Amino acid sequence: MGAKRGPGAMLPYFASGRVVTGFGRGGKQLGCPTANLEDATVSDLPVDFDCGVYYGFASVDGGPLNGMVMSIGWNPQFKNTRKSMEVHILRSFDDDFYGSFLKIVITGFVRPMTSFSSLDELVKAIDEDIRIAREKLTTDDLNKYAAHEFFNTSIPSGSQPPQHHDVNGKL
Ligand code: ADP
Ligand code: MG
Repeated sequence: MGAKRGPGAMLPYFASGRVVTGFGRGGKQLGCPTANLEDATVSDLPVDFDCGVYYGFASVDGGPLNGMVMSIGWNPQFKNTRKSMEVHILRSFDDDFYGSFLKIVITGFVRPMTSFSSLDELVKAIDEDIRIAREKLTTDDLNKYAAHEFFNTSIPSGSQPPQHHDVNGKL
């Protein structure tokens, strides 16, 4: 038997970083704002981490864990040479949180990336991704990760560069 392969092979995957502005390509207009993680966090992704839609949990500025659904895809802003990580948190926020420190754990895979021929198809796919993520995320996992060391170490203060945690593979 060989090593486990495929999109699930590297999960759970922990990551953290600042929320930066994306291209404003309409996450909010589509009813699905995505908090884009800074380049340093994206660069830390293993090269063979598959693009696609994933789900897991996220914490904003050391706050409580919430379910999230996210995409990992090629970033047109960098001529598709770099991946982007965009996290839609499954709760509503009163205000934007650009510049906040976001911690995530990716726990499951939903689907590979696909291109959609219409906006309507894209919106339907996003709704379906959210439905699947909500269905798969469990309270047991939420409690397990909320107690995990990764979510219980302090976050960098405003002026510090983002820290990188070496916790992947240590769960
Ligand atoms: P951008 O292209 O700048 O990423 P979006 O339309 O994707 O713009 O909106 C993302 C921003 O919306 C996030 O950076 C965050 O500040 C805010 N936001 C509000 N609610 C959420 C949410 N539930 N999940 C993710 N981001 C959210
Ligand atoms: Mg976004």
